[in-house]
Amino acid sequence: MKAHDGIYLDGAWRPALSGEVIDVVDPVDEQVIARVPAAGAEDVDAAVRAARAALPGWAATAPAERAARLSALRDALAARKDEIAETVTAELGAPLAFSQAVHAAVPIAVAGSYADLAARHAFEEKVGNSTVFHEPVGVVAAITPWNYPLHQVVAKVAPALAAGCTVVLKPAEDTPLVAQLFAEVVHDAGVPAGVFNLVTGLGPVAGQALAEHPGVDLVSFTGSTAVGRTIAATAGAAVKKVALELGGKSANVILPSADLAKAVNVGVANVMSNSGQTCSAWTRMLVHRDQYDEAVELARTAAAKYGDRIGPLVNAKQQARVRGYIEKGVAEGARLVAGGAEPPRERGYFVSPTVFADVTPEMTIAQEEIFGPVLSVLRYEDEEDALRIANGTVYGLAGAVWAGDEAEAVAFARRMDTGQVDINGGRFNPLAPFGGYKQSGVGRELGAHGLAEYLQTKSLQF
Ligand code: NAD
Repeated sequence: MKAHDGIYLDGAWRPALSGEVIDVVDPVDEQVIARVPAAGAEDVDAAVRAARAALPGWAATAPAERAARLSALRDALAARKDEIAETVTAELGAPLAFSQAVHAAVPIAVAGSYADLAARHAFEEKVGNSTVFHEPVGVVAAITPWNYPLHQVVAKVAPALAAGCTVVLKPAEDTPLVAQLFAEVVHDAGVPAGVFNLVTGLGPVAGQALAEHPGVDLVSFTGSTAVGRTIAATAGAAVKKVALELGGKSANVILPSADLAKAVNVGVANVMSNSGQTCSAWTRMLVHRDQYDEAVELARTAAAKYGDRIGPLVNAKQQARVRGYIEKGVAEGARLVAGGAEPPRERGYFVSPTVFADVTPEMTIAQEEIFGPVLSVLRYEDEEDALRIANGTVYGLAGAVWAGDEAEAVAFARRMDTGQVDINGGRFNPLAPFGGYKQSGVGRELGAHGLAEYLQTKSLQF
């Protein structure tokens, strides 16, 4: 695949000073498809300096001008949507249809939403005898993972640009190619030099140097809880703002009055989508004991249908990690009804769609984020028991409730400790705030709430 051998710095592609490279691997056939620079601390420093130098100019632009650049960015993404889908398929392994429908289409919609928001947002408001200005936070460090590689980039960069911030992006080492494509799009959209900079590199090297850099005002991170914790500690010590989008272990609560077959089928699809590499996936299905056996049978049949329709995991490490969780589930006494730890193919980082029954709330597979195509079906006695189980993890990112009556589902959802709940299969809304309760994170992405993360207020009294 086509790749830049430089980092995008101050409006141009320049060689990384480190001289190191990262091999990009296709997870389907394990072949190296490209090489990109593995930037070092000096490269990160240069990128932060460029972003800082560009800040006063960009922060002072009229919101209408930023809206125009974002609108051009949206159009440039849309013009390259097929290439985006092919790139994500090559480096993440997602089936092409899924890459088109989700990995390409969602970021285009999100970029469009910020073109609108930049134009409409009240960057100035009156509160009694004060005028409150909503000003950009400053230089943003965006550190993103590989599972929705373009979406997670756009969900940070678009609101940051809309707010008037400048950005240094450090994308995941597994998926740097779509990030390079994004940098080309930003360039073509006429965003001034230095406003957006891209440093590809390793997490503990480039990522850490960026998170620790004194020239950064806000670190926006999506990824594992372990790394998020370190970033938050470093940022806290420097009294630097931080936004974290971390893991999840979301509950799909099927109340007895629900359409069981629909709830189970949609629930299984939700977990298998993107091979289970979704932080908001409903990985715990909660079913009333009277419907339990029927639900397990429905889930087994549904999972079997996904057999060879899901892509591989992103890399060998994730494959080994997920297989380890499946083995642990068996060892702790859960009943395997579909899939298993044995890889379905010799080549590629595949894991079979897997369903566990007789999972109890304290089991590891019911508590920890697996990040693979693995569903746990848990039994509950009554509604209070379901709520206790649903709220019984350290996470609180997403969830679902199904009931015959919408009001009944809403009443249950209001008692869940989680940032999003889909009612009877409600669809994804790119304008709704997305983010976690408890250890699923700090802050919100998307829509107006996502924009607010990149703004700080200044009040003038008259
Ligand atoms: P990770 O947290 O290591 O990587 C995410 C990003 O952080 C990448 O860009 C990485 O280079 C960077 N990074 C890594 N170490 C860093 C450091 N010390 N300082 C600064 N940046 C650093 O995630 P992973 O190892 O790719 O995946 C491990 C697990 O994390 C997954 O199995 C899953 O449970 C979870 N995860 C969650 C999400 C999510 O959307 N919330 C995304 C990816 C992974």
